[in-house]
Amino acid sequence: MGEFELIDRFFRGVALEGAGEPSAVILGIGDDAALLNIKPGQQLVISTDSLVQGTHFPDEYSPDDLAYRAVAVAVSDIAAMAGRPLAFTLALTLPEVNESWLARFAAGLTAAARDFEISLVGGDTTRGPLNIGVTVLGRIRRGQEMRRQGARPGDLLCVGGPLGDGAAGLSVVLGESLPSSLDEADRAYLVKRFWRPQAQCGLGLELARVASAGLDVSDGLLADAGHLARESAVALHIVGAALPCSPALKRWPEAQRLEWMLTGGDDYVLLFTLPPASYERLDVWRSAGWPVSVIGKAMPGEGVWLDAGKGPERFDRRAGYQHFQGTKDV
Ligand code: ADP
Ligand code: MG
Repeated sequence: MGEFELIDRFFRGVALEGAGEPSAVILGIGDDAALLNIKPGQQLVISTDSLVQGTHFPDEYSPDDLAYRAVAVAVSDIAAMAGRPLAFTLALTLPEVNESWLARFAAGLTAAARDFEISLVGGDTTRGPLNIGVTVLGRIRRGQEMRRQGARPGDLLCVGGPLGDGAAGLSVVLGESLPSSLDEADRAYLVKRFWRPQAQCGLGLELARVASAGLDVSDGLLADAGHLARESAVALHIVGAALPCSPALKRWPEAQRLEWMLTGGDDYVLLFTLPPASYERLDVWRSAGWPVSVIGKAMPGEGVWLDAGKGPERFDRRAGYQHFQGTKDV
């Protein structure tokens, strides 16, 4: 099968008719490049992510989950800028042309394209070790983007959903030893959280001009909070007892749970700061169904501080989270 036939059979169908904003895509797959329409007063927001086999995903995977995850993690970066995703491109490197693999991969791509309301508008297909590169293009009204910089002392530190599920999900996927109380539904929930993360696009749009700073949690809460603290030149104080934890994650002993909530990556929930003038938005979001939690506060100073029950202690990347273990009731 040649490259053109492959693209026709498997990828042209992911160019969803009317996905997202109907007028956004002028020209999609099939020409030398795609054309998007950007309305006056808007700016493009662009993010690329690559998944490399052996580095970014386990060898035990199904092609549809892999495709979904590749799109979801790239879309999450657009949500983390408070942008609206419009379209995506796919740079796919394949060791071989395997039709059943490609059909399943395309099904996962289509599922993600539908869920995130974006259309596949182009890409590149080459031969080599398996590598999936996704670029998502989005838009945002000029000057309304949410950056990592901008948090001020007094702002509340908030997170858009439960933490630690990505790491727990990976543990389930890898078949590591699991708590006996973990039932089939918990397992399914966590595996889905790992393979099909739900980029928080709706919440991201709410945060435009409302949050003072923000990003998505991909490296782990403490590491990502560190990025925000550094870029905003504030200290971030986190209260361990306030960290949101899913019922499935609660099956693990506390020390493991805490480790994953603080340092496990792959959660793809939004982490942001809310200035006092916007505190009342919290109730609005919660009644709209967004599981937003206040987990701490920005203060004068620097670094990330965790109060795990014994008063605030500074998180040091080299010392790691072990420092906080052995504390109780967080
Ligand atoms: P060119 O040689 O001009 O770069 P290609 O043969 O690489 O063109 O691609 C032909 C068309 O197919 C282009 O519109 C390109 O964007 C699209 N395309 C190629 N690979 C993919 C892919 N993996 N997913 C989606 N579109 C693709
Ligand atoms: Mg090409």
